[in-house]
Amino acid sequence: KSFEELGLRDTLLQGIYRMKFTKPSNIQERALPLLLRDPAENLVAQSQSGTGKTAAFVLAMLSRVDPSVPVTQAICLAPARELALQIMSVAKEMGHYTGTTLQFVSRGMDISRTEKVTANILIGTPGTLMDLLRRNQVTFKHVKVFVLDEADNMLDAQGLGAQCIRIKNLVPKTAQILLFSATFSEIVDKFAHRFASPANEIKL
Ligand code: AMP
Repeated sequence: KSFEELGLRDTLLQGIYRMKFTKPSNIQERALPLLLRDPAENLVAQSQSGTGKTAAFVLAMLSRVDPSVPVTQAICLAPARELALQIMSVAKEMGHYTGTTLQFVSRGMDISRTEKVTANILIGTPGTLMDLLRRNQVTFKHVKVFVLDEADNMLDAQGLGAQCIRIKNLVPKTAQILLFSATFSEIVDKFAHRFASPANEIKL
């Protein structure tokens, strides 16, 4: 299947061409039809980095966000700042023609301690997002998509899994939950299905 056949908006197709992708990778081809379904369904997916998973969940977020409404509609959390930065740059490129606003939420972010954050998509690490939440700088009331990348590494880092659960419990019950992980040990699997239930599953 081609990107054109997946039913993506024109502005997103332009973003894909901008990145010079010609056809969907395996995970994109398997995940995107599912991610774009209406009403939204959850997904737990196994995928290593290098498979094109970032573009898959970035496209899912960009597809559901309405850029004409200046509120946070999607959140993407990663276990490390560097990874969040990479996701940011993919979202920037892919979303270039959509008018979607993005905010990086991790160490070194460009927001003060009092500013309200209303960007359509927040991409960052759990601790910093919790800080913003405690200072009332963000609201999760309008979130439609919540993505957790590298869930296995989240659980390896002290406290990150618990923070993700706390944040997830604050997004609307109707939000679409997407969880990606390279490995699925028993612990990760249990966490995944507690986090995103019920969920479709894509495993290698
Ligand atoms: P990821 O697995 O998300 O870390 O992506 C791995 C690499 O694959 C990145 O450098 C992407 O730019 C590239 N990539 C993702 N999707 C595609 C695609 N459909 N066609 C060509 N390259 C891609």
